[in-house]
Amino acid sequence: MLRSLFLAAAGSARLERLVESVPVSRGVVQRFVAGRGADEVLRVSRELADDGLTVSLDHLGEDTRTIEQAVATRDEYVTILGRLKEAGLTPAAEVSVKLSALGQRIDEKLAYEHARAVCAAAAAAGTTVTLDAEDHHSTDATLEALMDLRKDFPSTGAVLQAYLRRTEGDCRELATSGSRVRLCKGAYAEPESVAFQSALDVDKSFVRCLNILMAGEGYPMVATHDPRLIAIGEDRARWFDRSTSEYEFQMLYGVRPEEQARLAAGGHTVRIYLPYGEQWYGYLMRRLAERPANVGFVARAVSSRR
Ligand SMILES: Cc1cc2nc3c(=O)[nH]c(=O)nc-3n(C[C@H](O)[C@H](O)[C@H](O)COP(=O)(O)OP(=O)(O)OC[C@H]3O[C@@H](n4cnc5c(N)ncnc54)[C@H](O)[C@@H]3O)c2cc1C
Repeated sequence: MLRSLFLAAAGSARLERLVESVPVSRGVVQRFVAGRGADEVLRVSRELADDGLTVSLDHLGEDTRTIEQAVATRDEYVTILGRLKEAGLTPAAEVSVKLSALGQRIDEKLAYEHARAVCAAAAAAGTTVTLDAEDHHSTDATLEALMDLRKDFPSTGAVLQAYLRRTEGDCRELATSGSRVRLCKGAYAEPESVAFQSALDVDKSFVRCLNILMAGEGYPMVATHDPRLIAIGEDRARWFDRSTSEYEFQMLYGVRPEEQARLAAGGHTVRIYLPYGEQWYGYLMRRLAERPANVGFVARAVSSRR
Protein backbone atom coordinates (compact mmCIF):
# COMPACT_ATOMS: atom_id res chain seq x y z
CA MET A 1 0.00 0.00 0.00
CA LEU A 2 2.68 2.52 1.12
CA ARG A 3 4.92 1.24 -1.66
CA SER A 4 2.30 2.05 -4.32
CA LEU A 5 1.71 5.49 -2.78
CA PHE A 6 5.39 6.45 -2.90
CA LEU A 7 5.89 4.99 -6.36
CA ALA A 8 2.91 7.04 -7.59
CA ALA A 9 4.37 10.09 -5.82
CA ALA A 10 7.68 9.52 -7.63
CA GLY A 11 5.92 10.37 -10.90
CA SER A 12 4.01 13.42 -9.64
CA ALA A 13 5.45 16.74 -10.77
CA ARG A 14 3.10 18.69 -8.45
CA LEU A 15 4.17 16.75 -5.39
CA GLU A 16 7.78 17.10 -6.46
CA ARG A 17 7.51 20.90 -6.43
CA LEU A 18 5.85 20.77 -3.01
CA VAL A 19 8.42 18.43 -1.41
CA GLU A 20 11.35 20.37 -2.86
CA SER A 21 10.02 23.58 -1.37
CA VAL A 22 10.06 22.16 2.20
CA PRO A 23 13.33 23.25 3.86
CA VAL A 24 13.63 20.03 5.88
CA SER A 25 14.03 18.01 2.67
CA ARG A 26 17.73 18.80 2.60
CA GLY A 27 18.42 17.00 5.87
CA VAL A 28 16.43 13.96 4.80
CA VAL A 29 18.10 13.80 1.43
CA GLN A 30 21.59 13.82 2.95
CA ARG A 31 21.10 10.31 4.28
CA PHE A 32 20.70 8.86 0.79
CA VAL A 33 22.37 11.41 -1.51
CA ALA A 34 26.10 12.20 -1.45
CA GLY A 35 25.66 15.90 -2.22
CA ARG A 36 24.56 18.37 -4.82
CA GLY A 37 27.78 18.85 -6.73
CA ALA A 38 31.04 17.28 -7.89
CA ASP A 39 33.15 18.42 -4.92
CA GLU A 40 30.81 16.78 -2.42
CA VAL A 41 30.53 13.48 -4.28
CA LEU A 42 34.30 13.31 -4.75
CA ARG A 43 34.79 13.86 -1.02
CA VAL A 44 32.34 11.06 -0.15
CA SER A 45 33.92 8.76 -2.78
CA ARG A 46 37.30 9.33 -1.12
CA GLU A 47 35.89 8.59 2.35
CA LEU A 48 34.29 5.36 1.12
CA ALA A 49 37.50 4.35 -0.67
CA ASP A 50 39.41 4.93 2.59
CA ASP A 51 36.94 2.51 4.21
CA GLY A 52 37.75 -0.16 1.62
CA LEU A 53 34.60 0.35 -0.48
CA THR A 54 34.26 1.00 -4.20
CA VAL A 55 31.60 3.27 -5.72
CA SER A 56 29.34 3.76 -8.71
CA LEU A 57 28.37 7.42 -9.09
CA ASP A 58 24.88 8.26 -10.29
CA HIS A 59 24.16 11.81 -11.40
CA LEU A 60 20.54 12.18 -10.31
CA GLY A 61 17.97 12.89 -12.96
CA GLU A 62 15.76 10.75 -15.13
CA ASP A 63 13.13 11.03 -17.78
CA THR A 64 14.81 14.05 -19.36
CA ARG A 65 12.38 15.97 -21.58
CA THR A 66 14.69 18.47 -23.30
CA ILE A 67 17.76 18.03 -25.47
CA GLU A 68 19.60 20.72 -23.47
CA GLN A 69 19.10 18.75 -20.26
CA ALA A 70 20.22 15.50 -21.93
CA VAL A 71 23.38 17.22 -23.21
CA ALA A 72 24.02 18.72 -19.76
CA THR A 73 23.72 15.23 -18.20
CA ARG A 74 26.19 13.80 -20.73
CA ASP A 75 28.60 16.65 -20.01
CA GLU A 76 28.26 16.19 -16.25
CA TYR A 77 29.26 12.52 -16.58
CA VAL A 78 32.21 13.36 -18.83
CA THR A 79 33.40 15.99 -16.33
CA ILE A 80 33.00 13.82 -13.23
CA LEU A 81 34.85 10.94 -14.90
CA GLY A 82 37.79 13.28 -15.60
CA ARG A 83 37.75 14.46 -11.99
CA LEU A 84 37.59 10.89 -10.63
CA LYS A 85 40.71 10.09 -12.66
CA GLU A 86 42.51 13.26 -11.51
CA ALA A 87 41.68 12.39 -7.91
CA GLY A 88 43.15 8.89 -8.37
CA LEU A 89 39.79 7.29 -7.62
CA THR A 90 39.57 5.24 -10.81
CA PRO A 91 39.46 2.38 -11.71
CA ALA A 92 37.73 1.55 -8.39
CA ALA A 93 35.08 4.23 -9.02
CA GLU A 94 32.73 3.73 -11.98
CA VAL A 95 29.48 5.46 -13.01
CA SER A 96 25.85 4.35 -13.34
CA VAL A 97 23.81 5.97 -16.09
CA LYS A 98 20.10 6.06 -16.90
CA LEU A 99 19.42 6.24 -20.63
CA SER A 100 16.29 8.27 -19.88
CA ALA A 101 18.51 10.94 -18.31
CA LEU A 102 20.51 11.02 -21.56
CA GLY A 103 17.35 11.65 -23.60
CA GLN A 104 15.99 8.15 -24.38
CA ARG A 105 12.38 9.39 -24.34
CA ILE A 106 13.12 12.26 -26.72
CA ASP A 107 15.25 10.38 -29.22
CA GLU A 108 16.71 6.89 -28.66
CA LYS A 109 19.56 7.46 -31.10
CA LEU A 110 20.59 10.66 -29.36
CA ALA A 111 20.58 8.93 -25.95
CA TYR A 112 22.74 6.17 -27.44
CA GLU A 113 25.25 8.71 -28.79
CA HIS A 114 25.36 10.38 -25.38
CA ALA A 115 25.93 6.99 -23.73
CA ARG A 116 28.80 6.34 -26.14
CA ALA A 117 30.39 9.65 -25.15
CA VAL A 118 30.10 8.70 -21.47
CA CYS A 119 31.59 5.23 -22.15
CA ALA A 120 34.47 6.83 -24.07
CA ALA A 121 35.13 9.23 -21.16
CA ALA A 122 35.02 6.29 -18.74
CA ALA A 123 37.50 4.34 -20.87
CA ALA A 124 39.81 7.39 -20.98
CA ALA A 125 39.56 7.58 -17.17
CA GLY A 126 40.40 3.86 -16.89
CA THR A 127 36.99 2.81 -15.67
CA THR A 128 33.57 1.81 -16.93
CA VAL A 129 29.82 2.45 -17.00
CA THR A 130 26.77 0.48 -15.87
CA LEU A 131 23.44 1.18 -17.60
CA ASP A 132 20.71 1.37 -14.95
CA ALA A 133 17.43 -0.48 -15.55
CA GLU A 134 14.28 1.64 -15.56
CA ASP A 135 10.61 0.74 -16.10
CA HIS A 136 9.80 -2.26 -18.28
CA HIS A 137 8.85 -0.18 -21.34
CA SER A 138 12.52 0.64 -21.78
CA THR A 139 14.03 -2.81 -21.10
CA ASP A 140 14.39 -3.94 -24.72
CA ALA A 141 15.77 -0.60 -25.91
CA THR A 142 18.25 -0.45 -23.01
CA LEU A 143 19.50 -4.01 -23.58
CA GLU A 144 19.86 -3.32 -27.32
CA ALA A 145 21.89 -0.18 -26.56
CA LEU A 146 24.00 -2.21 -24.13
CA MET A 147 24.85 -4.84 -26.77
CA ASP A 148 25.89 -2.09 -29.21
CA LEU A 149 27.96 -0.25 -26.61
CA ARG A 150 29.72 -3.47 -25.65
CA LYS A 151 31.12 -3.81 -29.19
CA ASP A 152 33.48 -0.91 -28.42
CA PHE A 153 33.29 -0.85 -24.62
CA PRO A 154 33.02 -4.52 -23.59
CA SER A 155 33.02 -3.84 -19.85
CA THR A 156 29.78 -1.81 -19.96
CA GLY A 157 27.53 -3.25 -17.26
CA ALA A 158 23.91 -4.35 -17.54
CA VAL A 159 21.23 -4.22 -14.84
CA LEU A 160 18.56 -6.92 -14.62
CA GLN A 161 15.52 -6.70 -12.34
CA ALA A 162 14.45 -9.96 -10.66
CA TYR A 163 10.81 -8.84 -10.44
CA LEU A 164 10.41 -8.99 -14.23
CA ARG A 165 9.19 -12.35 -15.51
CA ARG A 166 11.56 -12.13 -18.48
CA THR A 167 14.72 -11.73 -16.39
CA GLU A 168 15.72 -15.39 -16.04
CA GLY A 169 15.98 -15.52 -19.83
CA ASP A 170 17.95 -12.26 -19.93
CA CYS A 171 20.35 -13.70 -17.31
CA ARG A 172 20.99 -16.73 -19.54
CA GLU A 173 21.78 -14.46 -22.49
CA LEU A 174 24.05 -12.18 -20.49
CA ALA A 175 25.97 -14.75 -18.40
CA THR A 176 28.82 -14.76 -20.90
CA SER A 177 32.54 -14.19 -20.53
CA GLY A 178 33.43 -10.64 -19.39
CA SER A 179 29.76 -9.64 -19.04
CA ARG A 180 29.16 -7.46 -15.98
CA VAL A 181 25.59 -7.89 -14.76
CA ARG A 182 24.02 -6.18 -11.76
CA LEU A 183 21.09 -8.17 -10.38
CA CYS A 184 18.58 -6.22 -8.26
CA LYS A 185 14.95 -6.79 -7.25
CA GLY A 186 13.59 -3.80 -9.23
CA ALA A 187 12.30 -0.46 -8.01
CA TYR A 188 9.38 0.59 -10.26
CA ALA A 189 5.61 -0.03 -10.08
CA GLU A 190 5.09 -2.76 -12.67
CA PRO A 191 1.92 -4.60 -13.71
CA GLU A 192 1.24 -8.27 -13.02
CA SER A 193 1.46 -9.04 -16.73
CA VAL A 194 5.21 -8.39 -16.72
CA ALA A 195 6.32 -8.59 -13.09
CA PHE A 196 5.99 -10.83 -10.05
CA GLN A 197 3.91 -9.02 -7.44
CA SER A 198 4.61 -10.81 -4.16
CA ALA A 199 7.85 -10.32 -2.24
CA LEU A 200 8.27 -14.10 -2.05
CA ASP A 201 7.99 -14.54 -5.82
CA VAL A 202 10.48 -11.71 -6.41
CA ASP A 203 12.93 -13.29 -3.94
CA LYS A 204 12.58 -16.72 -5.58
CA SER A 205 13.20 -15.18 -8.98
CA PHE A 206 16.25 -13.35 -7.56
CA VAL A 207 17.72 -16.69 -6.39
CA ARG A 208 17.04 -18.40 -9.75
CA CYS A 209 18.69 -15.49 -11.58
CA LEU A 210 21.61 -15.43 -9.14
CA ASN A 211 22.20 -19.16 -9.73
CA ILE A 212 22.34 -18.58 -13.49
CA LEU A 213 24.74 -15.65 -13.19
CA MET A 214 27.02 -17.34 -10.63
CA ALA A 215 27.11 -20.56 -12.68
CA GLY A 216 27.84 -18.61 -15.87
CA GLU A 217 30.99 -16.99 -17.17
CA GLY A 218 30.23 -13.33 -16.51
CA TYR A 219 30.83 -11.03 -13.55
CA PRO A 220 27.75 -10.98 -11.26
CA MET A 221 27.08 -7.82 -9.23
CA VAL A 222 24.70 -8.78 -6.42
CA ALA A 223 22.75 -5.61 -5.59
CA THR A 224 20.61 -6.10 -2.51
CA HIS A 225 20.38 -5.22 1.20
CA ASP A 226 18.36 -8.35 1.91
CA PRO A 227 20.22 -10.43 4.55
CA ARG A 228 18.90 -13.73 3.16
CA LEU A 229 19.86 -12.93 -0.42
CA ILE A 230 23.29 -11.69 0.66
CA ALA A 231 23.85 -14.98 2.54
CA ILE A 232 22.75 -16.91 -0.56
CA GLY A 233 25.11 -14.76 -2.66
CA GLU A 234 28.03 -15.62 -0.36
CA ASP A 235 27.05 -19.29 -0.48
CA ARG A 236 26.79 -19.40 -4.30
CA ALA A 237 30.15 -17.65 -4.71
CA ARG A 238 31.71 -20.46 -2.63
CA TRP A 239 29.66 -23.18 -4.35
CA PHE A 240 30.71 -22.03 -7.83
CA ASP A 241 34.27 -21.57 -6.62
CA ARG A 242 34.47 -17.89 -7.53
CA SER A 243 37.35 -15.87 -6.12
CA THR A 244 36.51 -12.46 -4.62
CA SER A 245 37.64 -10.78 -7.86
CA GLU A 246 34.98 -12.68 -9.85
CA TYR A 247 31.81 -11.11 -8.39
CA GLU A 248 30.83 -8.23 -6.15
CA PHE A 249 28.12 -7.04 -3.77
CA GLN A 250 26.46 -3.68 -4.29
CA MET A 251 24.36 -1.54 -1.96
CA LEU A 252 22.90 1.95 -1.93
CA TYR A 253 24.59 4.84 -0.14
CA GLY A 254 23.10 5.23 3.33
CA VAL A 255 21.48 1.78 3.47
CA ARG A 256 22.90 -0.82 5.90
CA PRO A 257 26.39 0.73 6.21
CA GLU A 258 27.38 -1.83 8.90
CA GLU A 259 26.64 -4.67 6.49
CA GLN A 260 28.66 -2.92 3.79
CA ALA A 261 31.60 -2.77 6.22
CA ARG A 262 31.15 -6.40 7.32
CA LEU A 263 31.26 -7.70 3.75
CA ALA A 264 34.28 -5.54 2.87
CA ALA A 265 36.10 -6.73 6.01
CA GLY A 266 35.36 -10.30 4.89
CA GLY A 267 37.33 -9.69 1.68
CA HIS A 268 34.38 -9.14 -0.67
CA THR A 269 34.35 -6.33 -3.21
CA VAL A 270 31.53 -4.00 -2.11
CA ARG A 271 30.36 -1.20 -4.39
CA ILE A 272 28.24 1.65 -3.09
CA TYR A 273 25.77 3.22 -5.49
CA LEU A 274 26.38 6.91 -4.86
CA PRO A 275 23.76 9.35 -6.13
CA TYR A 276 24.47 13.08 -6.28
CA GLY A 277 22.95 16.16 -7.87
CA GLU A 278 19.94 18.42 -7.56
CA GLN A 279 17.24 16.08 -8.86
CA TRP A 280 16.88 13.79 -5.87
CA TYR A 281 13.08 13.63 -5.71
CA GLY A 282 12.25 10.49 -7.76
CA TYR A 283 15.20 8.62 -6.23
CA LEU A 284 14.13 9.49 -2.68
CA MET A 285 10.52 8.44 -3.31
CA ARG A 286 11.68 5.00 -4.52
CA ARG A 287 13.79 4.57 -1.36
CA LEU A 288 10.76 5.49 0.78
CA ALA A 289 8.64 3.01 -1.17
CA GLU A 290 11.07 0.23 -0.32
CA ARG A 291 11.14 0.58 3.40
CA PRO A 292 8.46 1.93 5.73
CA ALA A 293 11.16 2.56 8.39
CA ASN A 294 12.55 5.27 6.14
CA VAL A 295 9.21 7.07 6.37
CA GLY A 296 9.68 7.21 10.17
CA PHE A 297 13.11 8.71 9.55
CA VAL A 298 11.52 11.45 7.42
CA ALA A 299 8.83 12.11 10.03
CA ARG A 300 11.46 12.41 12.79
CA ALA A 301 13.50 14.80 10.65
CA VAL A 302 10.43 16.96 10.01
CA SER A 303 9.34 17.08 13.65
CA SER A 304 12.88 17.78 14.92
CA ARG A 305 13.01 20.90 12.74
CA ARG A 306 9.80 22.31 14.08
C1 LIG B 1 23.58 -0.94 -6.12
C2 LIG B 1 22.13 -0.92 -6.48
C3 LIG B 1 21.76 -0.52 -7.73
C4 LIG B 1 20.41 -0.54 -8.10
N1 LIG B 1 20.06 -0.23 -9.39
C5 LIG B 1 18.78 -0.36 -9.77
C6 LIG B 1 18.38 -0.18 -11.12
O1 LIG B 1 19.20 0.10 -12.01
N2 LIG B 1 17.07 -0.32 -11.43
C7 LIG B 1 16.13 -0.65 -10.48
O2 LIG B 1 14.94 -0.82 -10.82
N3 LIG B 1 16.48 -0.81 -9.18
C8 LIG B 1 17.76 -0.66 -8.81
N4 LIG B 1 18.09 -0.84 -7.50
C9 LIG B 1 17.03 -0.90 -6.46
C10 LIG B 1 16.56 -2.31 -6.23
O3 LIG B 1 15.85 -2.75 -7.37
C11 LIG B 1 15.65 -2.38 -5.02
O4 LIG B 1 14.54 -1.57 -5.21
C12 LIG B 1 16.34 -2.00 -3.73
O5 LIG B 1 17.66 -2.44 -3.69
C13 LIG B 1 15.62 -2.61 -2.53
O6 LIG B 1 15.64 -4.01 -2.62
P1 LIG B 1 16.48 -4.96 -1.65
O7 LIG B 1 17.06 -6.04 -2.50
O8 LIG B 1 17.45 -4.20 -0.88
O9 LIG B 1 15.37 -5.63 -0.76
P2 LIG B 1 14.14 -5.06 0.09
O10 LIG B 1 13.03 -6.00 -0.22
O11 LIG B 1 13.93 -3.60 -0.05
O12 LIG B 1 14.66 -5.32 1.55
C14 LIG B 1 14.87 -6.64 1.98
C15 LIG B 1 15.44 -6.65 3.38
O13 LIG B 1 16.69 -5.94 3.39
C16 LIG B 1 16.83 -5.29 4.65
N5 LIG B 1 16.88 -3.84 4.45
C17 LIG B 1 16.52 -3.16 3.36
N6 LIG B 1 16.69 -1.83 3.54
C18 LIG B 1 17.17 -1.68 4.79
C19 LIG B 1 17.53 -0.56 5.61
N7 LIG B 1 17.40 0.70 5.16
N8 LIG B 1 17.99 -0.80 6.85
C20 LIG B 1 18.08 -2.05 7.33
N9 LIG B 1 17.73 -3.15 6.63
C21 LIG B 1 17.28 -2.97 5.39
C22 LIG B 1 15.63 -5.68 5.47
O14 LIG B 1 15.93 -6.85 6.18
C23 LIG B 1 14.60 -5.96 4.41
O15 LIG B 1 13.56 -6.78 4.86
C24 LIG B 1 19.44 -0.89 -7.14
C25 LIG B 1 19.82 -1.32 -5.87
C26 LIG B 1 21.15 -1.34 -5.52
C27 LIG B 1 21.53 -1.82 -4.17
